[in-house]
Amino acid sequence: MSSTVFVFGSINADTSYRVVSLPGPGETVLASSALESPGGKGANQAIAASAAGAATVMVGAVGDDAVATALLDDLAARGVGTAGIATTAGAATGRAVVYVDDAAENSIVVLPGANDLLDETTAAAGLASMRADDRLVLQNEVPAAANRAAARLARAVGARVIWNAAPAPASLADLVRDVDLLVVNEHELVQLAGILGLPVGRSDLGALLAATARELGADAICTLGPAGSIYLIDGHPGSVAAPEVRAVDTTAAGDTVVGYLAAHAHLPVERRLQLANSAGALTVTRAGASSSIPQLGDVETMLAALTERTPA
Ligand code: ADP
Repeated sequence: MSSTVFVFGSINADTSYRVVSLPGPGETVLASSALESPGGKGANQAIAASAAGAATVMVGAVGDDAVATALLDDLAARGVGTAGIATTAGAATGRAVVYVDDAAENSIVVLPGANDLLDETTAAAGLASMRADDRLVLQNEVPAAANRAAARLARAVGARVIWNAAPAPASLADLVRDVDLLVVNEHELVQLAGILGLPVGRSDLGALLAATARELGADAICTLGPAGSIYLIDGHPGSVAAPEVRAVDTTAAGDTVVGYLAAHAHLPVERRLQLANSAGALTVTRAGASSSIPQLGDVETMLAALTERTPA
């Protein structure tokens, strides 16, 4: 793979607490463990693309605080290029506090910090070496204007743009239009289709995905948790199951899928989604955010075991 996956987006210092049940308003609960790891959808997806075997460059921003150094070291240790990450003077590094309960449900509080100050200048500097056979991956945790600028820069050199519209866009102002592949979960799809004025109530998910893809002029994939994912690629619809696993913590499952999809963009869609779904399934069997993202070798071992168990 001589091409590079560029990820433009959020970088957070995550702290993940394990609890029996999520705290309600005014409630205090005890945690049984705490785990620190890099997080933010951007950093998670960069780590996933690198774990999937792609040369990967992260473009984003951290603050000038102590936690930033640890984050950059962690990203580098997982094979992610960090030269495109700016240090924003006077800003805090983004942070997230994640609570995960015994049913693998989570609640998350995010401090955007330096992520919220990303702009076209940082995008242009970090994406300057992008070429036509590279991919750009975007999410929805940085200002939409910066995302749109990054997408335009990628398109200008002929690189393909993957937009993970997560968290769900709140309004048309959050839209990225220069997109080749849209990746959403079910909730994000319904929200995005609503914003685009599509008839959300009457459509099944496949029809909604097709209508949304048409509206954006892009291919589209919708992840469905344990049910795997559905897609519309080059006008062809389909679905790919996810392996059955025991979920421990679903944090970063979607990010893992996006990173694997970006890293294996050259594969036929069914094989590409088999790899990505299996990687997502492995992620949910492990606690933590980016620390739970599996290496390609582990995913291939899982797929080989599944194939052995399912004779043709
Ligand atoms: P998000 O994390 O964005 O909400 P999903 O919950 O749809 O995304 O999960 C993304 C992918 O991770 C799914 O398409 C699937 O491949 C895998 N996955 C998630 N939850 C499970 C599960 N309980 N069992 C197996 N695979 C899962």
